[in-house]
Amino acid sequence: MPHSSKTNLLPFVEARRVVEQCAAKLTATGPELTSLLDALGLALAEDLRADRDFPPFPRSTRDGYAVRAADVQAVPVDLHCVGAIKAGGDTAELKVRAGEAIEIMTGAAVPPGADAVVMVEYTETRGGRVTIQRAVKAGENVVHAGAEANSGQVMVSKGTRVQHAVVAVAAAVGRPEVAIHRRPHVAVLATGDELVDINLPPGPNEIRNSNSYSLAAQVYEAGGETTVLPAARDEAAELALLLRKGLEADLLLLTGGVSMGKYDIVEKVLASLGAEFFFTGVAIQPGKPVVFGQVDMEGKTTPFFGLPGNPVSTMVTFQLFVRPVLDALGGAKPEPLPFVQAELKETFTTRMGLTRFLPGKLGGSHQRPEVEWVRWQGSGDLMSIVKSNCYIVVPADRDRLEAGEGVTVLLA
Ligand code: AMP
Ligand code: MG
Repeated sequence: MPHSSKTNLLPFVEARRVVEQCAAKLTATGPELTSLLDALGLALAEDLRADRDFPPFPRSTRDGYAVRAADVQAVPVDLHCVGAIKAGGDTAELKVRAGEAIEIMTGAAVPPGADAVVMVEYTETRGGRVTIQRAVKAGENVVHAGAEANSGQVMVSKGTRVQHAVVAVAAAVGRPEVAIHRRPHVAVLATGDELVDINLPPGPNEIRNSNSYSLAAQVYEAGGETTVLPAARDEAAELALLLRKGLEADLLLLTGGVSMGKYDIVEKVLASLGAEFFFTGVAIQPGKPVVFGQVDMEGKTTPFFGLPGNPVSTMVTFQLFVRPVLDALGGAKPEPLPFVQAELKETFTTRMGLTRFLPGKLGGSHQRPEVEWVRWQGSGDLMSIVKSNCYIVVPADRDRLEAGEGVTVLLA
């Protein structure tokens, strides 16, 4: 029974492995062509290849003089200046012969005959002559044609999520449209008698359903799209009906109703639909009651997560466990969690046994990244999460983290 196994908590690392293994078996959504900027955040369904050499010509990396390195060994040396070339300029008529130099700008093609560029700072011009004060080696300040990529070479491989640098590559190889995997479709179902939709006034002891919206936002940021189902009351028949609807999606995300309370019926109702549970609790805080499994229904297998209802728990467990599934469904290569190290500003004490992911604020400087605790009233505290930009990780075998020690931080 899923409920009795709630005490059977998986260690965090194992739970993450279970998710990654299940994710590896999922099939990605189909490809479609989309305009470049609409591809942001989605996974490429094709390799982006160089349509010519990069750079396409030997490119000067400096403003200065294109020279033959052999002429510029014993310095100072006087060369005859026979022309000038700017970025985009034509070199067809130009040639650097022995004893000659051509004035050149950053990004311009190094003209035939020249094999190095001397920075303008080390030169002095007088009439048609230039004095070079510093020796150069062949190839200095020149990136030769094809040094970054040869024509036909893969510059960005399929499965890479499109961000600004990928956009730059696509633009550079002349691709106003790229093939991406469609956004996987995620159903979001909040549960709880206390929930009121955000466009209705809540009663004195009711709360607005913020989780459906934060989850929809997290799903969108992770390259998915959502159908937000109406919140289910803590009542089996109604929940079963909405669950069936939600299981039509590529992934179903539930929030609330997975703890040990009398009205936490999500697992029971999932079980009644024949759900297979991969885990029903993880040794973490916040988010301990998180549930992961799948349901086979009418020949379709749909993975689901039951995320705890406290808003911070919902957000943390999404990041820890849901992302690998969304990556896989969206055709993106698996990504490790973004952990970094920072110096802890203030000592923290707790109990051992759970791996904790507690709201933190990463700051300091590039020489010395620091992280501080954000005070919180527990995992229901939305204020703590908007003030934080990361989670400080407290390993399960530590009951004390000292001010000044290097701690692991999960970027939010
Ligand atoms: P549960 O996991 O169902 O025990 O819910 C834990 C607590 O999280 C509830 O008491 C609510 O205060 C809060 N909560 C549950 N669902 C939501 C939701 N959809 N939006 C905002 N808060 C919620
Ligand atoms: Mg509830």
